[in-house]
Amino acid sequence: MSPDTENRLSGPLPDPSQEAGYSPEHPQRSGFFTDTSVCIGCKACEVACKEWNLLPEDGLNLTGMSYDNTGDLGADTWRHVAFVEQRIDPQTRSRVDIGMPGMGVPDAAPQEEGGDATEIRWLMSSDVCKHCTHAACLDVCPTGALFRSEHGTVVVQDEVCNGCGYCVPACPYGVIDMRPETGGASKCTLCQDRLGEGMPPACAQACPTESIQYGPLDELRERAEQRVEQLHEQGITEARLYGHDPEDGVGGDGAFFLLLDEPEVYGLPPDPVVTTRDLPAMAKCAAAAAGAVAVTIAGCFLGGGR
Ligand code: SF4
Ligand code: SF4
Repeated sequence: MSPDTENRLSGPLPDPSQEAGYSPEHPQRSGFFTDTSVCIGCKACEVACKEWNLLPEDGLNLTGMSYDNTGDLGADTWRHVAFVEQRIDPQTRSRVDIGMPGMGVPDAAPQEEGGDATEIRWLMSSDVCKHCTHAACLDVCPTGALFRSEHGTVVVQDEVCNGCGYCVPACPYGVIDMRPETGGASKCTLCQDRLGEGMPPACAQACPTESIQYGPLDELRERAEQRVEQLHEQGITEARLYGHDPEDGVGGDGAFFLLLDEPEVYGLPPDPVVTTRDLPAMAKCAAAAAGAVAVTIAGCFLGGGR
């Protein structure tokens, strides 16, 4: 693989928009930093997203496991606020105790009286399409319905989608989905229409705690590093970033997160890899196998003619 093509399907890629053909004067790559440590679970982001993008409501059925009533990201849910309930052992509560809403078990003895009360804490996180540096959904799309925007985001155009569904299993995060009413793929566009007018995405504008921050990706990464340092200094040593690293399996996400526990706790894959990463190696193997078959067949014909 030549040096100018070796990064096309995986690895760090400084400028996905230029890689996609935009001139070097294109706008800075922009994205989301979602700081879950200040999310209060109000779901203003979900509502603003649906309002702006005219997405239908999708049942509002409580999962029975928490206050989550939208379940997961989907064709009509482009922002999904996860409510994760965890029991905290009072002996080890220093693990992460930042005053998140919590409640004791009914009738349990209070901790200061020497009881063995356990408490429940909520972790809340507003999930979204990651706008991957290497987006497998886009790589496999045969019609160009999925494209890289001048802002470095990944956008889907309903009217160009032929409904093949190849993008759905290609996404390592399980984000993109098919809309039954139209048969087309659907996901967050990072409010491409608003960005074009110099406006922030609707969810970021609506978030009352600045849990969702929108801006140039480089600035967001710096800000996120500082926030993690600040939390560590406050004793919240479990704070960590997810999806910010250009060396990770997708070349870094355009939408990354500050989490207070392992990614799996929030329903995120711990080590996502762009699913098209191995295509060049597979193509080489297939070509080698085809060559071997051709040589064998030719040998049979030549041998049979003697
Ligand atoms: S998270 Fe999935 S749908 Fe979003 S850009 Fe990455 S591969 Fe595509
Ligand atoms: S609007 Fe902000 S605080 Fe409210 S649920 Fe969404 S991310 Fe959390």
